[in-house]
Amino acid sequence: MEMLELMEEMTNNVDGEQEKVLADILFLNAHTEYLQRHGLAGKTDRESFQTKLPLVTYEDIRPDIHRIANGDRSPILSALPLSHFLCSSGTSGGEKKMLPLVEGDRDRAEMVLRIIGSLMNRHGSGLKQGKALNFVHVRKEWETSAGIAVRSVITSWYKSSHFLSKHHLYSTTHTSPVASIHCTDMFQSMYAQLLAGLADRLSVVQLGATFALGLLQAIRFLERHYQDLATDLEKGTVDPRITNEEVRAALETRLVPDPENAAHIKEECGRGQWKGIIRRIWPNAQYLAATATGSMSPYVPVLEFYSDGLPLVSLLYGSSECFSGINLNPFSKPEDVAYTLLPNLAYFEFLTVVLPDNCRQPAELVSLADVQMGKEYEIVVTTYSGLYRYRVGDILRVVGFYNKAPQFKFVCRGDAVLSLDIEKTSEADLQKAVAAAETAHLIPHNMRVAEFTSYADATTIPGHYVIYWELSPTTDQTEGFLADYVMEQCCVVIEESLDVSYKEMRVYDRSIGPLEIKVVKNGTFDRLMDFAVSSGASVSQYKPPRCVKSASILHILDAAVVSAHFSPGPPSWSK
Ligand code: AMP
Repeated sequence: MEMLELMEEMTNNVDGEQEKVLADILFLNAHTEYLQRHGLAGKTDRESFQTKLPLVTYEDIRPDIHRIANGDRSPILSALPLSHFLCSSGTSGGEKKMLPLVEGDRDRAEMVLRIIGSLMNRHGSGLKQGKALNFVHVRKEWETSAGIAVRSVITSWYKSSHFLSKHHLYSTTHTSPVASIHCTDMFQSMYAQLLAGLADRLSVVQLGATFALGLLQAIRFLERHYQDLATDLEKGTVDPRITNEEVRAALETRLVPDPENAAHIKEECGRGQWKGIIRRIWPNAQYLAATATGSMSPYVPVLEFYSDGLPLVSLLYGSSECFSGINLNPFSKPEDVAYTLLPNLAYFEFLTVVLPDNCRQPAELVSLADVQMGKEYEIVVTTYSGLYRYRVGDILRVVGFYNKAPQFKFVCRGDAVLSLDIEKTSEADLQKAVAAAETAHLIPHNMRVAEFTSYADATTIPGHYVIYWELSPTTDQTEGFLADYVMEQCCVVIEESLDVSYKEMRVYDRSIGPLEIKVVKNGTFDRLMDFAVSSGASVSQYKPPRCVKSASILHILDAAVVSAHFSPGPPSWSK
């Protein structure tokens, strides 16, 4: 069946598909220890599922995961053969989460990618017109004590037989040599992908990365290394720092001396004006493809700056636990992006989010077909790989329907909250407050927040919120300085934007002290990423933490502080 027809059929029969998927998962896994432990063996109906199985988090299944990782081959969670583990960017109890990937999961992932390909073709934006310069990097994998591989989602896909069996096709639609994606040295991988993408720049119709941050890193890499790249383009050589034999060989077959191209790159990058650089270097690019929702939304303005407003397309919503949804309207504005969950991928349930002013009302679990327009829910998944009623931790809001399938806006990670007293400030609240301060006081001074994170500092009495900011100019000027007064006004706007329970604690109870902004040196957030990567995170999957709890990360941030500013007075509040 054509992919878009399949999509139509599934979205018209959401509940039927979901019932089928649940019965399928429970039937296949009937003899697993987990389902037997909960008295569900052999039962495939929704009612038994709902009454017998508890809601769980990673913490609850960690002992089962450890047994599998240590080599217990009995069917503990899933009866399907384990392929390997996926390593999530999230952590639990200080260790990386490992999620099982079983036979059949890749077919489901491939189906999602094919639906996306068909969608883009329908919009006339497929790769029939040219090539994609897609910045992806696999990272070193590791093994559990029983020798089971643990890979990031990206590594898992680009090393899969699904991808490798078609890699000759990939080279006709993408500029990056497969060897450069497989190279685990970040410098060599990035250099090679940029070099290949610059050599073939007129064919490029789309630039992309998994997340918006990845695309930004590529442009910053270009800023730093364009002269070396141009020298290679001019002479048709490969920089000696590229020592990986396969990457060198792949580049050498693609490069011929091209002084004209090199001169263009040198001229455009050497002007010192980075606004619109993407369009100037890749004039046929029609759009940027990179997830720009959730914690990636602060990067939208800077990508607009570099691309002079090329459309930014967020296509996928998913996690190491489960590929979940796609954006059926790829060219919607980043702030309007909504994801439609595909009902044949997993069984989805939704836990109502109980707002602080309504905390007596218990949270309720509803099915995909029963979610209501405008409401926020935490997503709960049951997967073929053996996660049952598992809380992923993401909060989604229903913003529309496609046929009978609800469409969700990503709101935030449910667990990223700042809290000192009874108030809870979510990632989304914080993001909104930072954006308000930026608009009111930084943009008028040609500055913006390039990166931010936060910390609930309980070591002072009373405790207070600390917001770490890395600032950058909005124009091509290189230096930026803001008077203390301006920064204090930013503190004021942030406090004014936070919710009523924060203000009550701050003004009435006085259990929270004045908010503090600490400005950190340029490049500090790059160091945070390097630190995360050296501790096992994947570059392509990396998302900066919007709320910091780890002492080592705080140490890096505090060592880079250039100035600190406190809110000069309490925010407005009335009982
Ligand atoms: P990981 O387990 O490392 O693959 O990270 C998965 C998490 O990334 C999800 O649970 C979300 O919190 C976040 N994420 C994935 N896709 C999106 C998206 N399209 N928009 C916002 N956040 C996303």
